[in-house]
Amino acid sequence: MVANFATRTATRTATISINLTIQAVVFLAIAGLVLWTMLFTPYANVHDALHALRHALYIIPCH
Ligand SMILES: [Zn+2]
Repeated sequence: MVANFATRTATRTATISINLTIQAVVFLAIAGLVLWTMLFTPYANVHDALHALRHALYIIPCH
């Protein structure tokens, strides 16, 4: 009875959790979105706040 419960719980947990490939894709998508927002977005509030950083990197075209 106890082992049966443990097996069912482990199976349910394995079904819910996502595999490493999907985790990597989700992580890279979020990291890419954050980097794009920091360095390339035309949104004025973020653009102005990170203007010095963008120019300090030299490789980011700005103006
Ligand atoms: Zn600039």
